[in-house]
Amino acid sequence: MRTVNAVAAPSATEPLIRTTIERRDVGPKDVLIDIAYSGVCHSDIHTVRGEWGEIQYPQVVGHEIVGTVSEIGSEVTKHKVGDRVGVGCMVNSCGECEYCVRGDEQYCSKGNIQTYGGVDPADGTITQGGYSQAVVVTEDFVLRVPESLDFEKVAPLLCAGITLYSPLHHWKAGPDTKVAIVGLGGLGHMGVKIAAALGAEVTVLSQTTSKKVDSLRFGAKAHYATKEPETFTELANSFDLIINTVSAKVDMGAYLGLLKVDGTLVNVGAPSEPLGVPAFALIPGRRSWAGSMIGGIRETQEMLDFCAEHGIHPETELIGADGINDAYERVLNSDVRYRFVIDAATFA
Ligand SMILES: [Zn+2]
Ligand SMILES: [Zn+2]
Repeated sequence: MRTVNAVAAPSATEPLIRTTIERRDVGPKDVLIDIAYSGVCHSDIHTVRGEWGEIQYPQVVGHEIVGTVSEIGSEVTKHKVGDRVGVGCMVNSCGECEYCVRGDEQYCSKGNIQTYGGVDPADGTITQGGYSQAVVVTEDFVLRVPESLDFEKVAPLLCAGITLYSPLHHWKAGPDTKVAIVGLGGLGHMGVKIAAALGAEVTVLSQTTSKKVDSLRFGAKAHYATKEPETFTELANSFDLIINTVSAKVDMGAYLGLLKVDGTLVNVGAPSEPLGVPAFALIPGRRSWAGSMIGGIRETQEMLDFCAEHGIHPETELIGADGINDAYERVLNSDVRYRFVIDAATFA
C-alpha cells in the first residue's frame, strides 16, 4: 500500500479537508497513475452531501482524472510507464454479463464499480476518487489520452464529454440531423461542441440568452431562451434529437413538443424528483423519451480520439486543492464557464 495526499469530505455537512488515503499495491493487471488534473463534476457535490444516498465518510470524490502512468503490473499490456492516461466514472465491472461483453460496462448487470463510493472488488474497500495525488486502476478501465489534447483541459471529457458523446452517437447525430441541447453548463457545452463536430445542426435551449455568444462560439447555429414562451411555439416539431442536461424539474411535455415525428428526447440530467410526461406529448409524433448514462470503455476511448481529431476541449477554470470548497459553491450557483479542473500538484 502507499499513502497519498487527498482532499476528502469528512461528513455530509462539513467542508472538504486535506487528508491522506491508502492506495492498494499494484496488482498484476493494475496501473498506478500519478494524477495531473482532476475535474469537478456536479455529481461529486451530490455524492459528498449524501443527496444520492448514504455514503461512508471520509470520502474522496472526483471521476474526471488524467495523469501519467508511473508503475504497471506484471501482466499489463495496454499501458506503459510514462503514458498519458485517463480514468472516468467507473473502475471495474463483472466483465462477463451481456452488457460488459458488448462494451456497455456502464450498464453491467451486476452494477459497474464506480470510481468513488463503490466497493473495490480487488480488496473490498470503498473506492476513493481523483481529488488525490495518485490512483491504482485495473488496466482495462484506463483510457489513452491522445498527445494532441491539452492535458490541463482534457479531464472533463472523462465524465461530461462521454455523457454527451454516447447519446449523440447512439441516436446518430450527424450531418442530416437537428439536435437541441437543453442547458449550457458543464455537460451541455460539451454536447454542443461534440454534436457540431459530428455535423449536426445544433440549437441551444438555455434559460436566458446570456450565454448566446458562447453557444455560437462552441458551434451552435442558434440559441433560444426557454424563459420566453414563444420559443416553444417557434421551435415546435423541429428536432430529431434533444439532450436534456438540466438536473432540475422541467416541463417535459413542452420539450417533447419540440421533437419531430420519431424524434427522441434523452435525459442525462438527473433531477431528484420524478418528471411528469404527458402521454399525448409522445403518441401523436411517435416520439421517444429516453435516458443515457456515461458510456462504455471502448466508446470513451473513441470519444477521446474523436475530440483529439477535431480539436475539441472542454472550457475549464484551473483551481488548487484549497479552492475546491469555493468551487462547489460556484458550481451550485451556475457560476462556472464551464468546468473546474483541480491542478493535482497542489495536493502535495
Ligand atoms: Zn460526473
Ligand atoms: Zn457485467
